[in-house]
Amino acid sequence: MSELRGKVQTVRGLIEPKELGPTLMHEHVVCDFTLPAQRAAADEAAEITLETVWEINYHWVDAPGNRRLLDRDVAVREMTRMVEAGGRSVVEVSTRPMILDPEGLRLVSERSGAHLVRGCGRYLEEFMDADEMERGVDDLAAEIVADVTEGSAPRAGIIGEIGCSWPWTEAERRSMQAAVIAQQETGAALTIHPGRHPDAPFEIMAFVKSAGADISRTVMDHTERRLFDIADILRLADTGCVVEFDLFGMETSHFAQARDVDLSGDGARLTAIRALIDAGHGDRVVISHDICQRTRQVEFGGHGYGHIYRNIVPMMRRRDFGEDEIDAILVDTPARLLTFK
Ligand SMILES: [Zn+2]
Repeated sequence: MSELRGKVQTVRGLIEPKELGPTLMHEHVVCDFTLPAQRAAADEAAEITLETVWEINYHWVDAPGNRRLLDRDVAVREMTRMVEAGGRSVVEVSTRPMILDPEGLRLVSERSGAHLVRGCGRYLEEFMDADEMERGVDDLAAEIVADVTEGSAPRAGIIGEIGCSWPWTEAERRSMQAAVIAQQETGAALTIHPGRHPDAPFEIMAFVKSAGADISRTVMDHTERRLFDIADILRLADTGCVVEFDLFGMETSHFAQARDVDLSGDGARLTAIRALIDAGHGDRVVISHDICQRTRQVEFGGHGYGHIYRNIVPMMRRRDFGEDEIDAILVDTPARLLTFK
C-alpha cells in the first residue's frame, strides 16, 4: 500500500514515525470487553466505591461492568494523565466482536493529545455469535484490509490483537490466516493474543510462519502470562517475533482468568526483559499495561496508563538499564512496528 508505506496510521490520520515518541503497544481505551452473555448484568452494575474497589479488581473478570470502558470522558482524562506522566502514543488493540468505538478514539486523541493507533481483526471465539463463527478466510481478510485502507471512520494502524483460545479453535485459525493475508497486503504489523497454555505461542508462531507472515513484524502478546520459565521466553524470542510484556501494574499473583496460574509482578517482568537484552534481543521487546478493566484506571483507584512512565522507567534506571535500552523498548521498536512496510 504505497500511500501507507513509511508512515504510521493513527485514528487522526497518517503521521511520521518520529512523532510517536514513547508508546504503549497493548491497551484498551474505549471499548466494551464484556462477554455478550454478561452485558445485561453489566447494565445493572453498581458504582465502584472505595469500599468495593479492591474486591472488584481482584475478581475483575466476573465483576459486572468492570470490563466496560465506553465512557469517552473518562478515557480523555486517563489519556491526559498518561501524557502528563511522559507518554505520547498508545496502541488500542480492541478487536471485533467486542463493542468498539473508533469515533470515540478519535475524539479522545483530539482532546488528550495522545496519538492513538487502533487495531483490527477478530478476538476470541467466546465473543462470536453463530454467524460470526462461520465466516471464511477471504471474507475476514477483506474486512481487515478495508479497516486499514478504506472509509471515513478512523482507520486501523495495526492488525490485532487476534484472539486465540487454548485449545485453538477452527474459527480462530481462520482469523489468523486472514490476518496474515492482510499483513502481506497492507504492510501492517500483527499482534497476537495466544491461548492460555505455554505451548500456545509456539504453535501460533509455527502457523503464521508457514502462512507467510513477516515474523519481524509479529508481536506475541501476554508473554509473562503464558511462559514462566526464562528459557521458554528466550526460545520464543529466537523465533524472531517481538516479545511483549503487557501486564505492568498488575502486582498480584492472583490471575482472575486462570486460577492455576501464579502471575508475576513488575520486578519479575524486568528480570525477564534483562535476560532477553543480555541474549541480544533488546530490539525485540515491547511493554504495556493491557488495561481492560475500569479498576486499573486512575479514576477507579487503579495505576492507570502512566504507571510505566511514573514507576517502571525509574525502576529500570535503578536496575541499570541503559537509556538506549529503555528507548529501544518504548520508542524505537514501537516505531519500527507501526511504520507500514
Ligand atoms: Zn489479549
